[in-house]
Amino acid sequence: MISCDKCSGRAVIFQKYSGKHLCAQHFEEDVHRKVKEVLRAYRIFGKPCRIAVAVSGGKDSSSLLMILHNLFSYRDDVELLAISIDEGIEGYRTKTIQAAEAVAKQLGIEHVVEKLEDNFGVTTDLMASQGHAQGPCSFCGVLRKGLLNKTARELSADAVATGHNLDDEAQTVMLNYLKGDVDRLYRLRPKRALAGMVPRIKPLRRVPEKEMGIYAITHNIPIDTSACPYISRAMRQEVKDLLNEIEAKHPGTKYSIMKGFDKILAREPPGSYEVIPCNRCGEPSSDGICASCRLLDRVRAEQSL
Ligand SMILES: [Zn+2]
Ligand SMILES: [Zn+2]
Repeated sequence: MISCDKCSGRAVIFQKYSGKHLCAQHFEEDVHRKVKEVLRAYRIFGKPCRIAVAVSGGKDSSSLLMILHNLFSYRDDVELLAISIDEGIEGYRTKTIQAAEAVAKQLGIEHVVEKLEDNFGVTTDLMASQGHAQGPCSFCGVLRKGLLNKTARELSADAVATGHNLDDEAQTVMLNYLKGDVDRLYRLRPKRALAGMVPRIKPLRRVPEKEMGIYAITHNIPIDTSACPYISRAMRQEVKDLLNEIEAKHPGTKYSIMKGFDKILAREPPGSYEVIPCNRCGEPSSDGICASCRLLDRVRAEQSL
């Protein structure tokens, strides 16, 4: 038996980057400490606030809901609610939403489900059937993000928390570097509450993906592991494999990527992003027509052919 470096308990994990073996209890403490440090940096706590957690039914977002519940359930000034977006993907989303529902219910947290179809009159299945060149994921992503923001705002949330972990963050940074997409990198910067935008926070951005898996297992969190049938993230998968390979040889590399990126973000951005309401639906936009309306035009034009 390998024992914990902080007590005599049985170790459930070895963190190569820290050199530590940790038991279940000290592992939980370590995850909670990292989440608290990230949350402190967002500076939204300390006053009464309502946090909407975007839950998909997968391990990251369901564990996030439980972690935030564990950290804040004894406090009167922090209120949690869970939001799921149903994109309309036959045979996939129904199951994952049931898993999300189960976690929220177990923790006694209000769970709201909003459907793309009820809000925009389209589903991801429909958009996929139209065979747009970019594939359904970019369409689905735009509408999902827009609806998540709108739902959170209408429920008076002060922030939307998503389950992105360290691996997701490091992959996104690397992908955008590889594509030379500096604008998109700057858009990852935490946003202030501008014209209708609810600030997005990523409390798990310092926790490696593997540890989120261990957290879900050691806490018996009901999760659904099915993957979206439209998933096509070929390049992200390559970057993921590459980063895992480098991390194995040079532990701590994922943290270095994220920290280096945070240093860049701490400087002034090239030009500022203005946010104005969309002429048609009133949601936030950069130039008077929001990304959702722009995209729906294309989907509807296709439908009427
Ligand atoms: Zn221990
Ligand atoms: Zn609009």
